[in-house]
Amino acid sequence: MTAIAFIGLGNMGGPMAANLVKAGHRVIGFDLVESLRAQAATNGAGIAPSGREAAAAADIVVTMLPAGQHVLSVWDDILPAARPGALFIDCSTIDVDSARRAHEAAKSAGIASLDAPVSGGVGGAKAASLTFMCGGAETAFAAARPILEKMGKRIVHCGEAGAGQAAKICNNMILGATMIVTCEAFALAEKLGLSGQALYDVASTASGQSWSLTSYCPVPGPVPASPANNGYRPGFAAALMLKDLKLAQEAALAAGASTPLGAAAAQLYGLFAASGHAGDDFSGIINFIRGAPR
Ligand code: NAD
Repeated sequence: MTAIAFIGLGNMGGPMAANLVKAGHRVIGFDLVESLRAQAATNGAGIAPSGREAAAAADIVVTMLPAGQHVLSVWDDILPAARPGALFIDCSTIDVDSARRAHEAAKSAGIASLDAPVSGGVGGAKAASLTFMCGGAETAFAAARPILEKMGKRIVHCGEAGAGQAAKICNNMILGATMIVTCEAFALAEKLGLSGQALYDVASTASGQSWSLTSYCPVPGPVPASPANNGYRPGFAAALMLKDLKLAQEAALAAGASTPLGAAAAQLYGLFAASGHAGDDFSGIINFIRGAPR
């Protein structure tokens, strides 16, 4: 039985670790927050007194942390304690540069590593239906795959170190920009006297089709499961969309890529979040675009 250290037992990490326990793995959890350690223990995980001790007891180490600085400092701390032959998997969403530095740190310690950020949110973490976007050596991907399959449905190898993070931020830049323009189209339709349902019926089967429209329609009605029918409760919070759009902008600046619509999306989500809507679903930006924030 593979022993897995799980460091970062928050909104995502808590249920992901619980799914590894359910799949029959020995999980040794650690988080800085006492109540989250207690919850993980209730879910059947063992608890270590520190990240270092969790890593020392494991064949595979998973981290699910807020940002690049946390991942780099945790990996620096725990790599010296890792077992020979261990595999480190970081599932956090972090900047590409930090992801590559984490891989370098692991390589210097003789440890295999994978960046494996996820999409699917807390619902996907609970249902073990996440998508994992992975970067790293083929051998590390092959070793990680059976573990990731216990927490997700789609496991994609995107390329070398950092490629998982690159895929995640590029995808979410598409998502942020298409959501905004979808909201603009519905707001324009309202002013033109065109019903939201009529716009949906045409665009959902025409060239305006996108995931933002057909799976996550920002007006109530056409897609019953979308957060628009639930008071724009997340779902995927605007604060998280803003985080990912900022990561995309940092990466674009560093790589010399022009991303004017991505930049505009980051600015608009920044304004939306700062106006008291950071916790709303990101599709709630339609109210902001209408000029009538709730
Ligand atoms: P969270 O804040 O709920 O969890 C992060 C956890 O890391 C916290 O419990 C915190 O105490 C812990 N932590 C921080 N520093 C630590 C350390 N040094 N040692 C041990 N534990 C430490 O965040 P989350 O929503 O679970 O998100 C985690 C990551 O997943 C983020 O990078 C986020 O961008 C990404 N993500 C989140 C979602 C979502 O819907 N919440 C979706 C996709 C990706």
